[in-house]
Amino acid sequence: MKVPLRELPLKRSFALSADFVDGLVAGLPMRKALGSEASQAGEGTAELEFYMEGDNVFARGSLDAWVELACSRCLGNLRHSIQEELMVTYLPGGQVPNEDGLEADEEDTDEGDAVDTYGYEGEEIDVEPLLRERVLLSVPYAPLCKPDCLGLCSKCGANRNDSECGCDRKVLDPRLAALKDIKV
Ligand SMILES: [Zn+2]
Ligand SMILES: [Zn+2]
Repeated sequence: MKVPLRELPLKRSFALSADFVDGLVAGLPMRKALGSEASQAGEGTAELEFYMEGDNVFARGSLDAWVELACSRCLGNLRHSIQEELMVTYLPGGQVPNEDGLEADEEDTDEGDAVDTYGYEGEEIDVEPLLRERVLLSVPYAPLCKPDCLGLCSKCGANRNDSECGCDRKVLDPRLAALKDIKV
């Protein structure tokens, strides 16, 4: 996933292969939770336009990918899609400003419109660290197969999206059980 500086400016697309995505998400809890249910981890494409100004290289474009994860409620498979704008500055010699360096406002780094900064060494730009990071950051902490997923029955383990098992779950949650005893 490298771009030689001498070819700039240029526009290029990068394929995120199934193996690449698999390597990225293999260790994530919501991927591991799939166990033997796991199939292809995902794939994607990034389109980037590069140009130089002085020694700095600017890249803009988009990332379009998907990853297969387990639903955090019912543990069923889901396809999480990733669509992101990319806006990156590459500085020469790996000179990346530290946290309290150039960026005056640290709040910026959380915003979608913030410019990412990476370093580059030698005569080429490697976009792999950027794509790795973007895919990983876009994976939700608690993904859902659908917004109103009913999850698994806490008593018998049945998938409540498929059928209601009829278990009495009212007193199972100790926090709720405690609330029930409070006299108002
Ligand atoms: Zn679910
Ligand atoms: Zn049940």
